[in-house]
Amino acid sequence: MNIHEYQAKQLFRDFAIPVPSGGVADSAEQARQVMQTLSGSAWVVKVQIHAGARGKAGGVKVARNEQEVADFANAMLGRQLVTHQTDANGLPVNCVWVEEASAIKNEFYLSLLVDRDSERLIFIASAAGGMDIEAVAAETPEKIVHVKIHPASGLQPYHCRQVAAALGLGKEQQSRLQTIMTGVYELFLAKDCSQIEINPLIETDNGNLVALDAKINFDDNAVALHPEIAALRDASQEDAKEAEAKQFDLNYITLDGNIGCMVNGAGLAMATMDMVKLKGGAPANFLDVGGGTNKDKVKAAFKLILSDGTTKAVLVNIFGGIVKCDVIAAGILAAVEEMHLTIPVVVRLEGTNVELGLSMLAESGLGLHTAEDLNSAAELAVKLAEEAA
Ligand code: GDP
Ligand code: MN
Repeated sequence: MNIHEYQAKQLFRDFAIPVPSGGVADSAEQARQVMQTLSGSAWVVKVQIHAGARGKAGGVKVARNEQEVADFANAMLGRQLVTHQTDANGLPVNCVWVEEASAIKNEFYLSLLVDRDSERLIFIASAAGGMDIEAVAAETPEKIVHVKIHPASGLQPYHCRQVAAALGLGKEQQSRLQTIMTGVYELFLAKDCSQIEINPLIETDNGNLVALDAKINFDDNAVALHPEIAALRDASQEDAKEAEAKQFDLNYITLDGNIGCMVNGAGLAMATMDMVKLKGGAPANFLDVGGGTNKDKVKAAFKLILSDGTTKAVLVNIFGGIVKCDVIAAGILAAVEEMHLTIPVVVRLEGTNVELGLSMLAESGLGLHTAEDLNSAAELAVKLAEEAA
């Protein structure tokens, strides 16, 4: 789960990580009011969306006076912002963050995440921070330092010295960095994060280190343990279909092809998508209806697959292990009938009660296509989608 910068900065504050003073606003008037509570001679207004690269997309503005704060808030609120981390529709701007502008001497990069290969938390840092960290990683990877933390030792002062050296920090700043890294490390563990990223971590004109940006991702499987984190969820920033899928406990991810896939089991879903690709088609989604699925889930899954109108054919690939094939068949028939489905549906069933399931489909008179195996099912779905497109 993802949260907004302003929420992440509040958590940073709670863990003693320095951030600029600021406040959140959902109208130009409120942005003006927030600004009046802040000191300084310039302010930064930042669009709040669940995506980075806002600076390059025009979503971050250094304002010199009250009018500029209000004008920028006005221009941004209520629209969609497209950045190179969003899709082509962008994300809705429902609030902005207004903070005291900082005088930047240096922009660094600092993040903490899980390194799955070594099964450790790993700090990643670079003196070349700011908006182009992806380019640094691709072109000059030697400018990025990695420091792994053994879970038994936890974060130690020498870890912080390693990062400080890589950032070229002096003695006094070293202890400031240690405070920040300690805060990041403790926050990560306390709230079951999967990633914390500060880009840029800045050195100000007077030598302070401040988190100018704040990005936190949480482990979805642990959010239920932290109601105060769950409360930070902003559904307006999430894919509507993926959010609906969650309600039915379906694992659903929107893709850009035109063949809807309904499969049980993540592995089988991946194999099905591969097969569709191999046959020259493109999947419209990843969908795992789960092992113990039922009629209602199958219906919800069909609705999701068909809801945006780009799907030209549906490929159902179910292995009846825990779930019985006749239950799946009943779900498919209910969905097709209720939704007055007109696009072609290819069904491949295998496993418990497969004969019963297939005969229910055949006798329905609804014109469903059945296939003996995944190979021929994918081939047929691709062919039917092409004909319909
Ligand atoms: P992102 O583009 O979504 O990652 O948004 P950031 O919060 O990282 O801001 C993008 C860029 O805006 C930063 O790299 C800075 O160069 C600039 N910026 C943000 N806040 C300030 C500020 O207080 N003062 C100045 N001078 N620049 C800022
Ligand atoms: Mn940033």
